[in-house]
Amino acid sequence: MTALLRAKNVVKHFRSGGQFGGTKAIIKALNGVSGRYPHGEVFCVVGESGCGKSTLARIIAGLHRPTSGTVHFNGTRMDNLSAAGRRPHRRAMQMIFQNPQESLNPRMTVRQTLAEALHFHFPATTASECEVKMLGVLADTGLSADTLSRYPHQFSGGQRQRISIARALIVQPQCIIADEPIAALDVSVQAQILNLLSDLRDKHQLAYFFITHDLSVVEHFGHQVTVMYLGLICETGSSKTLFKKPRHPYTQTLLQAAPRIGKPLATAKLPGEPPTPLAIPSGCAFHPRCPYANKRCRDDKPKLMRLAEGTVACHAVEEGRIAAE
Ligand code: SF4
Repeated sequence: MTALLRAKNVVKHFRSGGQFGGTKAIIKALNGVSGRYPHGEVFCVVGESGCGKSTLARIIAGLHRPTSGTVHFNGTRMDNLSAAGRRPHRRAMQMIFQNPQESLNPRMTVRQTLAEALHFHFPATTASECEVKMLGVLADTGLSADTLSRYPHQFSGGQRQRISIARALIVQPQCIIADEPIAALDVSVQAQILNLLSDLRDKHQLAYFFITHDLSVVEHFGHQVTVMYLGLICETGSSKTLFKKPRHPYTQTLLQAAPRIGKPLATAKLPGEPPTPLAIPSGCAFHPRCPYANKRCRDDKPKLMRLAEGTVACHAVEEGRIAAE
């Protein structure tokens, strides 16, 4: 079966600085990322700030072009299409952002916001059809009909995120790309939005490409996980396998550092300096922070190795210093 989304060897480098005589630098945000994502599943991409996960989401959504590599959606190559060429595919792939306050137009009522999205993709929709669809997505997202006449500033953060989800939903997407969609919300509201996204996936057979730094979200919400570090994939696998038996030292440390339901509060912290895509270490990018690092790790970049379930890029796993299964 054709994958819903396919990324192949995606690289994205940004130029920074150079203005006013400053030093020019290359930010190596993504350094060769590949993946296949089937229909109807929840794909989570995790990693610390600066690991390239949001850049990958934006390339898949068509907001950035990759420096090299390809992105296919439903079998169509997307990364080399013009804005007009992408338009027929944009409806099926919607995006929601971390901060709905910034992604909703403060001058537009919810009615105008939803109608604009619907008419952009379905220009022949009549006023009465539009009304029916708007009321349908409001009901789906747990909002009342009187929401339509109000402005974004009249809602709480959680309600604004529901409006963003309704705006995505009204054009009947196959896939929603969600970039840290609960990170800006109160903890009590985060679970409500996750439950809502889960219900909508079941009802509308949606796939999610879900960017998060929060591993507890992945454990309870994701089907497949990709762990990234400095623009590279460290490890991939089903969320069940990855949480039961993380192989990559970075994944292991992330899991030890993450608060987990029913487990004592973890004290593990990631050692060393936080990573910067301006200066990627030689060999394995994680070696300055890795307790298993040896000379080979400092000199040679590990390749992604296929395991019985998932993949991992680590010399210590390949050499048997860390158990693969
Ligand atoms: Fe650590 Fe070496 Fe594995 Fe990198 S390749 S994660 S430095 S053991």
